[in-house]
Amino acid sequence: MSFQNPVFIPGPTNMPESIRKACDMPTIDHRSPLFGQILHPARANVQKVLKSANAEVFIFPSTGTGGWETAITNTLSAGDTVLAARNGMFSHRWIDMCQRHGLDVQIVETPWGHGLPANRYAEALAADKGHKIKAVLATHNETATGVKSDIAAVRAALDAADHPALLFVDGVSSIGSMDFRFDTWGVDIAVTGSQKGFMLPAGLAVLGFSAKAMAATKTGRLPRTFFDVNDMAKGYDNSAFPYTPPVGLMNGLLLASDMLLREGLDNVFARHTRIASGIRAAVHAWGLELCAATPDLYSDTVSAIKTPAGFNATEIVNHAASAYGVAFGTGLGEVAGKVFRIGHLGSMTDVMALSGIATAEMCMVDLGLDIKLGSGVAAAQDHYRRTTGQALKDAA
Ligand code: PLP
Repeated sequence: MSFQNPVFIPGPTNMPESIRKACDMPTIDHRSPLFGQILHPARANVQKVLKSANAEVFIFPSTGTGGWETAITNTLSAGDTVLAARNGMFSHRWIDMCQRHGLDVQIVETPWGHGLPANRYAEALAADKGHKIKAVLATHNETATGVKSDIAAVRAALDAADHPALLFVDGVSSIGSMDFRFDTWGVDIAVTGSQKGFMLPAGLAVLGFSAKAMAATKTGRLPRTFFDVNDMAKGYDNSAFPYTPPVGLMNGLLLASDMLLREGLDNVFARHTRIASGIRAAVHAWGLELCAATPDLYSDTVSAIKTPAGFNATEIVNHAASAYGVAFGTGLGEVAGKVFRIGHLGSMTDVMALSGIATAEMCMVDLGLDIKLGSGVAAAQDHYRRTTGQALKDAA
């Protein structure tokens, strides 16, 4: 291919050239101390990205889905009850995985487009006097609907009920892009993958375990081998994995986490908010609505945009790919055909975002939607000009 547009799928995200180069390295002996020089600082950086002082960081050759499996199989036993809300495709898939592992999932059905209902978690936890619920699952950012949830409120629900259940948080499309506070929120296991906020290719599951989650690995009886965190921890003691690590990806993770920390996490989050706000200004100018029901739920990493009734939103995604060589995300599950998604996380600038907005606009006009060419671009330009000016003034 002699050209390359940015992608606007909500992961894998665009990769900075430096990160691609860091992944492309000569073979080293992965059992030599050289690997430790990548492994240990990468784990220390990830701990900082999670905003944790003491979380045990585990990195497996896998993806976010493998991260879920790591969380479940290391801490729980068949027949255990877990509490989970289903408000989109990814929370649904996590629930499905739990059920396939023989867990009893108490499901809080929640309309897609809404956030995790902390009040209903609170009711379920307060009613569970015998503490049958062993873990509470919370998807921080539902990538299918572009909805962020309030994890602090879920922690507050656990605390109000004085409930000892573990808190597992899917941060796959939030960690490294949106504010995530492992320690402050009392998270027991956080899960992400390499291909979102870390701007790497897919291939790593990245997790943080609290001391309480580590203690639960001693009682959890679900079978695990590849994803056994205690085997992995023993490997780390020798600057190694229990098996062959993906060294290039680990080297990429070291650089990516360094880059996030050098930019400053708060600056990274502010950049995502600013870029997302420009996208939302465009959506508003088009006269369209987001799938997220209220502004407090708007995700800063992905926007799921509803198209008019009777119009198949997937046509926009297909047309963008075939006519302009640009990738957007399709609607998934319940919202398939009803929304298209613009991913705006990871390595993304105002200028890149503007090109995505312009492309979406051209596609919608090509397909006969009543959208004025340039309307969304102008709204976003206005937002970026105003907020960039402010950022430069602040930096001066
Ligand atoms: N959870 C969320 C919120 C996601 O967005 C995704 C993937 O997009 C996953 C889990 C699954 O991650 P993976 O595809 O890396 O296995």
